[in-house]
Amino acid sequence: MGLEKTMAQVQLAIGNTGPQEEAARLEALTATGILDTPPETCFDTITSMAAEYFKADTVLLGFADESRVWIKSYWGEPVRELPRKNSVFERVLAEDGPVVVPNINDDPEWRVRRLPLRRLDALSFASAPVRSSDGRILGALTVFSCQPRRPMAVTELRMLESLADIAASQLELRKLRKALNRHRQRQERRAQPGTEIWPRKTDLHRALEKRQFVLYYQPEVELATRRIAGLEALIRWQHPDRGLVPPMDFIPVAEETGLILPIGDWGLSEACHQIRQWRAEDPERAAPRVCVNLSARQFAREGLADHVEALLRRTGVSSQQLGLEMTESSLIPDPDTAMEVLGSLRRLGVSLLMDDFGTGYSSLNHLHSLPFDVLKIDRSFITRMTEGEQPLQIVRTIVELARVMGMDVVAEGIETREQYALLRQLGCRFGQGYLFSRPVSATTISTMLRLPGRILPDPADPQAPAN
Ligand code: C2E
Ligand code: MG
Ligand code: MG
Repeated sequence: MGLEKTMAQVQLAIGNTGPQEEAARLEALTATGILDTPPETCFDTITSMAAEYFKADTVLLGFADESRVWIKSYWGEPVRELPRKNSVFERVLAEDGPVVVPNINDDPEWRVRRLPLRRLDALSFASAPVRSSDGRILGALTVFSCQPRRPMAVTELRMLESLADIAASQLELRKLRKALNRHRQRQERRAQPGTEIWPRKTDLHRALEKRQFVLYYQPEVELATRRIAGLEALIRWQHPDRGLVPPMDFIPVAEETGLILPIGDWGLSEACHQIRQWRAEDPERAAPRVCVNLSARQFAREGLADHVEALLRRTGVSSQQLGLEMTESSLIPDPDTAMEVLGSLRRLGVSLLMDDFGTGYSSLNHLHSLPFDVLKIDRSFITRMTEGEQPLQIVRTIVELARVMGMDVVAEGIETREQYALLRQLGCRFGQGYLFSRPVSATTISTMLRLPGRILPDPADPQAPAN
C-alpha cells in the first residue's frame, strides 16, 4: 500500500502524472457528467453503508476536477467541496490505489496539516479510488474516524474498494443509460411510416384467445450440490408462423397496451396449476418454488395481493411455493406504495425476488429499505466477472451485502464452468444459467424433477447431456 511514502514523495508523484495524464483524467470525469448532476440517492446509500461497516465518524464520496474535490455524498460531517491541494484524493491519486492511515499522529505529513474537515478531528482514515472504466482515478471514497484504528484487515480493505467500485459502476450505468436513450431517440426518428410494427395489440389479443402463450421453466440450482431449488417461469409465444417468440419481442408491447394485465394473470394462474400438477406427480416431495416475473403495470395494479391470495386459494397452492420477481425499475414510480404492496405480498408468505439486481437506478438504496427475500445478480455482472478484478469485486460485494442483510442470492446467466467455480468460491448459494439448463418445457422439468435428489448432472462431466 506504500504507506511509507512521505508527503514530499507524494507531491513528486503527482507532478509525475503529467498534464496529459491529468487532461485524460478530466476528460473521463466529464464523460460521466457527475459534476453537473444533483445528488443521487444511491451514493448516499454507499456512504451510509461504509459508515455502518467501518463504524466511521464521517464518510465522503467525492470527485476531483483541477482544483476542488466535489463531494457527491457525505455521511456525518456535511461537506460539499474541499480544496484538492493536499487532499486525501491527491494521495490516492499519487499512490494509484487505496491509502490507509491508521493514526495520523504517526504520519509526519498529516500530523502537521490536519485533515481539511471543519468540525471533525479525525485521527485515522482509509480511502479507495473510484475509477473510470479505463482505470483513471476520478474520485475517492474515504472513511474517517476520530479514533486511531488498527491497520485494516484485507477483507475490510476489499470492502472499501468494493463500495468504491459500486460507485464506479453507477457512473458507468449512467453513461450506458444516456447512450441507450440517444439510441432509442435515433430509432424513433428513423421509424418510417409504413414499416411493419409487430406485434400489434390485436395480435396479442388473438394470441391470448387462441391460447398461444406457454410457460417455460428454468431451474435455479443450489450451487454446492446442483440440486434444483426452484424454477423460474418464463413466458413464450408459440406462434403458428413465427415459431417460439421470446418475451422481449412482445412483453414491451403488452406493457404499452395494457395487455400485460390479462397476460400476466394468465401466467400466474398457469404457474399455480403447474405447481399443482408437479405436486400430483410426486406427492412425497414438495414441488420446488416457482417464481413468476411481474411487470411494472401488474405491480402497480390495485389489489395485487388480494388477487394473488384468491388465486392461491382457488388452486390450492401454498404461498411458500410461489415467488414473485420484480425489477427495481418496476417499483420506482411510487416507492411508498411499493413498500405497502410488497409488505402485503410478504404477509401472504410468497417469496419476493429482486430481479436484475445492479442494473437499476439506485440498487443499493432499494435493497436497503424493501422487504426482499432474494436478490438476483444480473447476468451482465456474471458475464463480466472473469474479465478482471473489478467486475469480480462487484459480484463479491453484492454477495457479501446480501449475506449481511440476511437475503439469499441467485446468480443469473451462469454459462461457463469458470463462472460456476468463482461463484462457489465467493459463497454465492444459488444460480441459474445455460450451464445447468436452458428454460425448458414443463414436461422436461417433470423429467428433471425425477432425477435422484433432484440433482442436475455435473456440467464438468463429459457424460452429462448437453442442453
Ligand atoms: P429475466 O426475468 O431476467 O429472465 C432471465 C432471462 O435470462 C431469460 O430470458 C432466460 O432465458 C435468460 N437466461 C437464463 N440463463 C441464461 C444464460 O446462461 N445465458 C443467457 N444468455 N441467457 C440466460 P427470457 O426467457 O428471454 O426472458 C427475458 C425477460 O423477459 C425476463 O428476464 C423477464 O424480464 C421477461 N419475462 C419473461 N417471462 C415473463 C412473464 O411471464 N411476465 C413478465 N412480465 N415478464 C417476463
Ligand atoms: Mg426474472
Ligand atoms: Mg433477471
